[in-house]
Amino acid sequence: MRLLVTNDDGIFAEGLWLLVEELARVAAVTVVAPDREQSGVGTAVSLGRPLRMKPVMPLVAGVEAFAVEGTPADSVILAFHSLGAEDLGMVVSGVNAGANLGHDTLISGTVGAALQGYFFGLPALALSVAALKHPQFGPAAILARLLVTTIMAQEERCPFLLNVNLPNVALEELRGVALTRPGQRSYTELVEESQDSKGRVLYRILRGQPTADMVPGTDVWAVRQNCVSLTPLRGDLSMEPYLAPWEGMIPSLWEALQRPVG
Ligand code: MN
Repeated sequence: MRLLVTNDDGIFAEGLWLLVEELARVAAVTVVAPDREQSGVGTAVSLGRPLRMKPVMPLVAGVEAFAVEGTPADSVILAFHSLGAEDLGMVVSGVNAGANLGHDTLISGTVGAALQGYFFGLPALALSVAALKHPQFGPAAILARLLVTTIMAQEERCPFLLNVNLPNVALEELRGVALTRPGQRSYTELVEESQDSKGRVLYRILRGQPTADMVPGTDVWAVRQNCVSLTPLRGDLSMEPYLAPWEGMIPSLWEALQRPVG
């Protein structure tokens, strides 16, 4: 079985190659990742745009590596197209520099890449370490190897999407592994205005301080406790239990739609 490894920090990111080094000990690995940093692009797919995929020199011996001129999701789609889906057993995305917790899960390129693997019917892991500066990728890479070994040993592999976040601590400082749900963590985006040389306004969207309520059982809570957070996700965005408030609106909406004048 071959593992497809990708990320959103770009093909030469340190976190990717530390992960590959660990995974190559237990399985054949192919790396297909964006040729540059793509953090925050979420599930974006470059529809209709011509994309290049170039072989690059691997930083770990015995591993094939390709750089894609596109998003993390593009990388996974092109990997399946070029390498053949039958050979690929699992998709591992990361290790990302920076946590992907709470609402961030939806804009994360790391999770966006793993989601494509899940859509192709494979087990998929997204791995992140909660630090942008001086992230310690080692514990996440070791954990990834252990998860992959466990999953490969199962007789029947079901597709799943697991979002894994680690606090930025050494292995011996970890306090446990917690099975979690996404918490309510969001950022207040700051918009900074400046001017270009012709006096036209330029906007830059910047990250503010995250707000989080530390509800036990959530991913944000687990990482704050110095625990590994394992969050199983699903691609089904249905709000089925919450249809009731909408139901009362439907008849009048339909009626109004048939007589749209005024
Ligand atoms: Mn990133």
